[in-house]
Amino acid sequence: MIDKPLPFDERTIREIVRSYRTPFYIYDESAIRASARRLNQAFAWATFKEYFAVKATPNPHLLKILRQKGLGGDCSSLAELVLCERVGITGENIMFTSNETPAKEYLRAKDLGAIINLDDITHIPYLERHAGLPEVICLRYNPGPLREGNAIIGKPEEAKYGFTREQLVEGYRQLKAKGVRRFGLHTMVASNELNPEFFVETAKMLFQLAVELARDPGVRLEFVNLGGGIGIPYRPGEKAVDLGFVGRRIQQTYQEIVVPAGLHPLKIFMENGRCITGPYGYLVTEAIHHKNTYKRYVGVDSCMSNLMRPGMYGAYHHITVLGKETAPQDHTYDVVGSLCENNDKFAIDRQLPEINDGDLLVIHDAGAHGSAMGFQYNGKLRSAELLLREDGSVMQIRRAETIDDYFATLDFSGL
Ligand SMILES: *Cc1c(COP(=O)(O)O)cnc(C)c1O
Repeated sequence: MIDKPLPFDERTIREIVRSYRTPFYIYDESAIRASARRLNQAFAWATFKEYFAVKATPNPHLLKILRQKGLGGDCSSLAELVLCERVGITGENIMFTSNETPAKEYLRAKDLGAIINLDDITHIPYLERHAGLPEVICLRYNPGPLREGNAIIGKPEEAKYGFTREQLVEGYRQLKAKGVRRFGLHTMVASNELNPEFFVETAKMLFQLAVELARDPGVRLEFVNLGGGIGIPYRPGEKAVDLGFVGRRIQQTYQEIVVPAGLHPLKIFMENGRCITGPYGYLVTEAIHHKNTYKRYVGVDSCMSNLMRPGMYGAYHHITVLGKETAPQDHTYDVVGSLCENNDKFAIDRQLPEINDGDLLVIHDAGAHGSAMGFQYNGKLRSAELLLREDGSVMQIRRAETIDDYFATLDFSGL
């Protein structure tokens, strides 16, 4: 049974491997365009904008594709701001949702005309002192014990992010007094959440808060930002979030809360990363070693510096052995990388077809928080990123790092 289909087969990948060495990432352009379209369609009833979380897949070619679909960029660092600027995502098409933010990053965000989303009440005077207050400001709400959160993001009251309820009122009051005239409200209480009701609850919470803030301290919000965190079905059998359902239920809630309070039109923003690109990026790696000790291992030519999620979160990433899609999965392997860390395992006790050296393995759902989390620990280098274009051609959108890149910041003079 093929429960997680691929947009390519072994022949296509073998062809690609003649020009680009493994390991590499490959992204499916048409599927990424379609996922952006689905999210936009789910909220077609509203004045909606998705700000793609740049940290998920910070590649200019992918950002350009998403810009063409009308998406903005959600940034939290100077480099991400510059990346957006370089691909023409500017002004209020950027949401700057940062925390513990250095002054120079606020300055750049303000120069770019980005919507600045403050993480703490003390950042109001900090921003004012270092960059001046912009015309529009968003505040990040942390509902604390009012919401449960989930495994990756943890309990809101344990999370370092955002204002308390009381601080929000005080924050908007201060901003109003300082002459800010346009306001937004943000929260991010889920990560990789598959329950569609969770997002409806988040919308409801922010809509109610919008009504309360209109009374005290009397701010009329221009938008609410529901954050990101829409999950993806990493495991076969898990169900993707039905975005149409989420959109319709949030529309209902909007009609029940926002409209009667006279707050229509209230714009709705989101800042997902994972659900836009996650399922549509793959890490392709070659099996190069077998080892039988207390367990059976397959060693591949990539490692957790290419994809850290399994090592960091114990995350499941499905693996397909190319050409053996329908073969019986009658072998149990740990699929491991070359890092000198025992959590460098892409899969543990995984049922797979028999793997031979030279087989190509596809690690699924690596299109978000995959390549982006790459690092150089242990002298490992980041791999290339390729784009499978709509016409079936393949384009390199990021070259692999070389040893010269690794040495570029080292200084051997005067040794
Ligand atoms: C990481 C992050 C996102 C994106 O999360 P996804 O799980 O990729 O949707 C959005 N907003 C903020 C503030 C984040 O830190």
